[in-house]
Parts: sequence; structure tokens; C-alpha cells
Amino acid sequence: MSMQHEILPQQTKSSQPPPSLECPRCGHHLDGNADAAEARGEMRGVCTECALPVEWAKLRADAIAPKWFIEAQHSKYWWPRRLASTLLRCVRPFHFWSAIDLAIPFSRRGAIVFLIGVAALLHVVAVGQRLAYVGPVCLDRFRWKMWNAETESAADLTLAIIAPMSCFAGSEILHYSRSEVGPGNEFEVAMRTTARFAMIAIYPMRSQMVFGYAPTPWSPRGTVTNTGKAPSIFWPDQSDSTIASSIAAVSAPFAMLLLPTSLRRARIRQRHFLRVSLYASVLIVPIMATSLALPHFGAMYGGSALSFINLYGKPNADAILLASATLFISIWMTAAAGRYLRLPHAAGVGLSCGLIAVLTSMLVLQWRSVL
Ligand SMILES: [Zn+2]
Repeated sequence: MSMQHEILPQQTKSSQPPPSLECPRCGHHLDGNADAAEARGEMRGVCTECALPVEWAKLRADAIAPKWFIEAQHSKYWWPRRLASTLLRCVRPFHFWSAIDLAIPFSRRGAIVFLIGVAALLHVVAVGQRLAYVGPVCLDRFRWKMWNAETESAADLTLAIIAPMSCFAGSEILHYSRSEVGPGNEFEVAMRTTARFAMIAIYPMRSQMVFGYAPTPWSPRGTVTNTGKAPSIFWPDQSDSTIASSIAAVSAPFAMLLLPTSLRRARIRQRHFLRVSLYASVLIVPIMATSLALPHFGAMYGGSALSFINLYGKPNADAILLASATLFISIWMTAAAGRYLRLPHAAGVGLSCGLIAVLTSMLVLQWRSVL
């Protein structure tokens, strides 16, 4: 009986006429306005709630996503191609946001695939940084014609690619397996090393690996402790400003809620904030790349974030990173506010969002460290 009670309202809801004409930005019902305007022979008008310019005929038709877009429902392109295309187009944020219509429904699956793509790009950035350290070591081995240069370099490069954040060096694991198995059994050495690489790939942040005893030759066993042979690609000093910048990138769209004057007339729907935030996650890739690249150019982490030159007279990497992040985020938000949300004064909105987001996340991290 109670079941029927719960189902009944849903049934009446679904038997209602199809959803009416809504403003894609604020969700205001526009049927009356559309009918009246079309009776007067007008093709265009504005939303009476948020002043978004609309074309009545376009509003009546279903919004069509570009075929390269990861959220496109009906596209002849396979998803890996759409993912690559969408990621590539993020390089030109003004073009990217111009192509996306406010009325395109949000696709949760598209969102998840995009985030996986961003994670893959971050992995590539980490591999690049690891190779910057491992590459010269491998070259030196060949230059000095060291014994086993090929195998050791291959081990170092493989581990750098599969687990760039690990503090183990591939050649170190190879040495361990070799010392354990003894000379003359290269096959078993290779099997054990491969199994250990797999373990490290699963637990990349561990500094000690305990391999339980297993009777088969291809099982990893024994204990290996990091001896500091592989460089840490991410230093603790570096993390605060990098984390603050990354959080700022995805939280910047929500800073718009703090700007009542520019948004007084535009009651933006929640899904638009989510979409801008989702695609802003791609900014973590250049933020991470900048963060890792700065020390290669003589900048130094670990000082106050307020000065561009630190105590030792070196460029302050924290300040440079936060300033670059503010720039990236402001450009992204200007493009999204102007081309996608079609708000007036987009540059002002973008710059304000960039500054508010970076300053807020810096304050939150400071507060956390005080606690
Ligand atoms: Zn509206």
C-alpha cells in the first residue's frame, strides 16, 4: 500500500506534457515570452530573469554538442578520440568555451573519462620529471662503458615510466634480485625484478617494500628499503604552493558566487559551475609542470610566498608558481565567463575568480599548518 503511495506522484509527473522551454543559463521558464515574441515575428529575445540573449528557434531545438566533445551523446567519434580532442582544445580556452552551448546536458560519464585523461597527463608530467634525473645517469653509464649498462638503464627507465613518484631506483631493485638469486640465472632475476616493479607500481609512495616469502621464482620476497638512490620528484617544501594552486584551479568557478554585482542578473544553474570546474581541472597539468620545472631554472622552494626573491637571493619558486597559477586560472575563467556563460565584464569576473581562489586556498593551507 505504502509502495503504491510512493510510486503514484512519480507516475503523475511522467504523464505531464514534455518539459517547457527553459533559459539554458538560469532555468527560468520562457514559454510565454517565446510564444509572444514569435507572434510578433521576433526571432530573438532575452531571458526576462537573467538577460541572456536567446534565439527562440534554437531554444526549441535540442542543443547539439560538437562531435569532438567528450560529453557529446551522439558522436561518430570513439571516446578516446573525443578525449584527446577535448584535452587538446583546452589549450585554447576561448575557442573551447565558444564551442560549448549552455543547453548541452551534463554527461557524468564524459566527466569521469575527462578526469581519467587529466590523471594520465599528470602521470606523463611526473614521468618527464623523473626522466630528467634518470636520463643523465643512464647516459653516464654508457659513456663510462659500465658493466651491464643496458640492463641497468632499462630497469631505471622502466620504473621511471610505471611509477615516477616512487623513491626506488629500478637498477637498485635489479641489484637486489641479482644478489638474492646469485650469478648465472638471469631469467629468475628478470622474473623477480618484474614482480617487484609491479608491487612498486601498485604502492608507489612506499619507502620500504616487504615482499612476503613465496616458493615460486617469479614471486617477490624479502625486504627492500629505499636507500635514496632515486630522486624524489616532489619535495615537501614544494607541496604547499602546488596543492594551493591546484585546489584554486577547480574551486575558481565557485568564487563567482562571491561576486554578486556581476551576477546579480545571472542566476547561473549549478551544473554550469560544475562543468567549468570539471574542465578547469586540466589546469592542474600546467600547474604541476611549472611546479616541477621551476627548480631546473634556479628557483627555490620553501620561503615566504610574498616575495619574488628569497633570503638567499634566488627566485622564489612559491611566489612564481602562485602568480602563474593566478594567471592560468584568470584566463580560463575569463574564457568560461565570457564565451560559455556569456556574462558581461568577463575579464573582471575571470581575474577576480583567479585572485579569490588562489588567495583563499593559500589561507586555508596556512590555517591548516597553524592547526
Ligand atoms: Zn535566464
